[in-house]
Amino acid sequence: MSKSLQAIRGMNDILPEQTPLWRYFEGTVARLLDNYGYKQIRMPIVEFTELFKRSIGEVTDIVEKEMYTFEDRNGDSLTLRPEGTAACVRAVLEHGITGGGQVQKLWYIGPMFRHERPQKGRYRQFHQIGLEVFNLDGPDIDAELIIMTWRLWGELGIRDAVKLELNSLGTSESRGRYREALVEYLSAHHDKLDEDSQRRLKTNPLRVLDTKNADTQAVLVDAPKMADYLDDDSRAHFEGLKARLDAVGIPYVLNPKLVRGLDYYSKTVFEWVTDKLGAQGTVCAGGRYDGLVEQMGGKPTAGVGFAMGIERLVLMLETLEQIPEEISRQVDVYLCAFGEEAELAGLALAERVRDQLPNLRLQVNAGAGSFKSQFKKADKSGALYALILGDDEMAQQVVGFKPLRGQGEQQSIAWDALAAHLATCVVQG
Ligand code: ATP
Ligand code: MG
Repeated sequence: MSKSLQAIRGMNDILPEQTPLWRYFEGTVARLLDNYGYKQIRMPIVEFTELFKRSIGEVTDIVEKEMYTFEDRNGDSLTLRPEGTAACVRAVLEHGITGGGQVQKLWYIGPMFRHERPQKGRYRQFHQIGLEVFNLDGPDIDAELIIMTWRLWGELGIRDAVKLELNSLGTSESRGRYREALVEYLSAHHDKLDEDSQRRLKTNPLRVLDTKNADTQAVLVDAPKMADYLDDDSRAHFEGLKARLDAVGIPYVLNPKLVRGLDYYSKTVFEWVTDKLGAQGTVCAGGRYDGLVEQMGGKPTAGVGFAMGIERLVLMLETLEQIPEEISRQVDVYLCAFGEEAELAGLALAERVRDQLPNLRLQVNAGAGSFKSQFKKADKSGALYALILGDDEMAQQVVGFKPLRGQGEQQSIAWDALAAHLATCVVQG
C-alpha cells in the first residue's frame, strides 16, 4: 500500500476483536463513576494553542515538543488536545458552572494527542479517562479519587499488580522556596548533571528530580528534601490524606521524587504504577491544582483530578489475562432459514422475539446459503444455539432449536413459545 493510505505512526485502529475489551473497561469505569456521583462532560478535541501554553506551562515537555499545532483557515493557531484538564477548566469557566463555590465532580473520556516516540504503551493518539473536581479543597476528596481507583483495580482484577506512589508538592509558595534551595544545591554540582538536567535546572528545576540518569541521581541523594519545606497547611492536608487511605486499608509508598510533568500541580500528587508493562509503567496519575483556575483567569478555585491511560490498562488486562469470558461471546442465538418463504417468516419471527427479549443477541443469517454453509456460520459466530427454519418447520409453524455447544438434542419449539423458551436458556447481559 502506498504510504499515504496508512494510518499515521503512533495512531492506531482499534479493531473489532479488541473493542469488546475496550467497551468492558470503559463501561466498568463509567458505572463506577456514576455510582460515586460524578457527571460526564464532553469537550472539543481541538482548542486554541494558547489554552495549553497557559495552563500546562511553556517549559514542559508537552508544550515544548509534543503538541500537534496547526493554523486553521482563519489563521488561528489551534492544537489537538494533549490532555483534558486545560479544556475542562476552560469549559467550566466559560459556562460559569464553578462560580459561587459550586462543587463540580466531572469526568471525560476520549483521545489525546502527543508527538512522542511510539512504543508499547506510548502512542501519539492515545485515550484517557480523566476526572476533575472543583471547589473542594480538603484531603477527603483527594482520598475519594484514590479510593475509587482502588475499587476499580479490584473490579478489574489487577489490584495486586499496581502500586500507589504519593507525594505532596506543597503550595506554590512553599514549592518556590524549595525550588530555590534545590537550584542552589544543583548549581553547585552543575558539572555532574546530565545535559538534560542542566537544561531543566534553568527551565523547570523540579523535573530534575525524576531524571533517569544515574550520575544525576547520585547527586540528588544529598539534595534538599521537598518534605522539609512543606508549609503547615500542606503538611496537614497530606497527613489527612494518608489517614484516610490507612482507614480504608489502601497501601501506598511515599515517593519524594514524584513531581509530575505538568506545571500546575500543588499539594497532593499521585501515580498508580505497575511493573507489568515495561517502561511505560504509569497507568493513572493525578493531583491537586488549586492555583490553576485562577491562573487561567477565573476566581481562586480548588481543583483536583487524575487521568488514566486506556491503552495501558487494556494492555494490563490482556497481560494479566483478566478478560471476562462473557465479553468475547457476542452472539447468543443464530437463526438459519432455508428458502425464500422461510427467510421471510424468519425475519418476522426474529423481530417478535426481539420485542420480547430486547437484550437477546440474536443474529439472523444474511446471504442465504446451503444448510452446511449457514450452519458453519452459526457455529463460527460463537452462538450458543441455532434456530432452524426449513420446509418441515414452516409446515408445522415451529422452529428447530439446536444447541451448538453440546448441551443436548435438537427440539422443535412453536413460534409463539420461542421467546419464553429462549428466556429460560440464555442468560441475558
Ligand atoms: P508518562 O510519564 O508515561 O509519559 P505522563 O506523566 O506524561 O505519563 P499524564 O499526562 O499524567 O502522563 O497522563 C495520564 C496518563 O495517560 C498516564 O499515566 C498514562 O497512563 C497515559 N498516557 C500519557 N501519555 C501517553 C501516551 N503517549 N500513550 C499512551 N498513554 C499515555
Ligand atoms: Mg509523558
